[in-house]
Amino acid sequence: MVQDCIFCKIVRGEIPARKVYEDDDVLAFHDINPITPMHFMLIPKRHIASLAEATADDAGVLGRIMVLAGKLAREQGSPYGFRTIVNTGRIGRQDVMHVHVHVLGGPNQLGPMIPRG
Ligand code: AMP
Ligand code: ZN
Repeated sequence: MVQDCIFCKIVRGEIPARKVYEDDDVLAFHDINPITPMHFMLIPKRHIASLAEATADDAGVLGRIMVLAGKLAREQGSPYGFRTIVNTGRIGRQDVMHVHVHVLGGPNQLGPMIPRG
């Protein structure tokens, strides 16, 4: 399962990604199918399937990801704010089952957070 996880493959260098940031525990890379002018993702290098599976042991790396989001968004062209999204599970329409924080932004204000429904 972790062998087949596409984000674990990116961490291991088995498939390419346009990296934004990397350290021992965290990787950030551009989304292959961006939905805003700036759209990258932050992931823990260690496989965590989703926010629903996260435990207290994951709090440190997930906290570091949130703190990095603002710094990287400023560097990547969204200095006046950005949006973070963490899709989780079937209800949240999570496609890749390795927890990831989308960071979305750019020069212009984004649309509404989510359509009512
Ligand atoms: P989610 O629906 O939150 O699970 O989002 C998964 C995201 O991963 C989508 O926005 C995809 O465009 C993105 N994605 C899938 N494969 C890759 C890849 N190989 N490199 C970069 N982004 C990817
Ligand atoms: Zn994984």
